[in-house]
Amino acid sequence: AEIDQPLLERHKKPVCLIVLGMAGSGKTTFVQQLTGLLHMKKKAPYVINLDPACREVPYPVNIDIRDTVNYKEVMKQYSLGPNGGIVTSLNLFATKFDQVIKLIEKKSENTEIAIFDTPGQIEVFTWSASGSIISETLGALFPTVVVYVIDTVRSVSPVTFMSNMLYACSILYKLRLPFIIVMNKIDVVSHKFALEWMKDFEMFEEAVERDKSHHANLSRSLSLTLDEFYKDITTVGFSAVTGEGFEEFLAAVDAAVVEYETEY
Ligand code: GDP
Ligand code: MG
Repeated sequence: AEIDQPLLERHKKPVCLIVLGMAGSGKTTFVQQLTGLLHMKKKAPYVINLDPACREVPYPVNIDIRDTVNYKEVMKQYSLGPNGGIVTSLNLFATKFDQVIKLIEKKSENTEIAIFDTPGQIEVFTWSASGSIISETLGALFPTVVVYVIDTVRSVSPVTFMSNMLYACSILYKLRLPFIIVMNKIDVVSHKFALEWMKDFEMFEEAVERDKSHHANLSRSLSLTLDEFYKDITTVGFSAVTGEGFEEFLAAVDAAVVEYETEY
């Protein structure tokens, strides 16, 4: 069947997926849907929740940061606000990350994919020492892929689209790992417009001009920069609600693993 991914199966070590994206882009729902589909159609994934502040985890979780650190206690103990509490909790957890590695390695025989759900606010992961430690450690030990989740519904505005893509670009630049963009929520809006904008820079320009941007020149040079970024990136449409896009996503992971093997 199409969903049998020979490459993933041949791999001796689990492929690690680090799921990143703006708050509300649908990371947790994506992890939930992906986990459910993998349970049904392939081997069960190993799932790790790195968000200390989420109320509930809507998927079967193997390692939950909340079992190790209580972010409200951390806030009290170090007199921090919510953001400081979340960052410090992730830092505390990162000091024990060798144990997470050991657990994933133990599961290597039976697991093809390990999935990492990250804190709601993306900068907690991308602008913290712990985020770097976690992604560098995973990237050094396992075939690791960054899955960048984008809210397609919000991205119909070209300016929002571009700022989100620039953020994705800066993460790629910083983490230097194979990268998949997941255009999420296609049950609401098709991601066709995004594929067109990424393929044809002039179509994007037209959209920006219709948007009456005050920074036409800046938009133009930024989208030229992004053009370079788009060339190296795989984009997949997905619905974390319906599961549409699952097989295309698995194929993208497969290709990213090949890239990892040849370039890292
Ligand atoms: P996170 O902050 O990135 O983890 O985002 P969540 O997974 O908590 O999702 C944020 C909101 O978007 C929730 O209300 C979800 O129900 C909704 N959502 C997530 N994915 C989808 C999707 O594919 N389609 C639709 N329609 N809604 C979604
Ligand atoms: Mg979440």
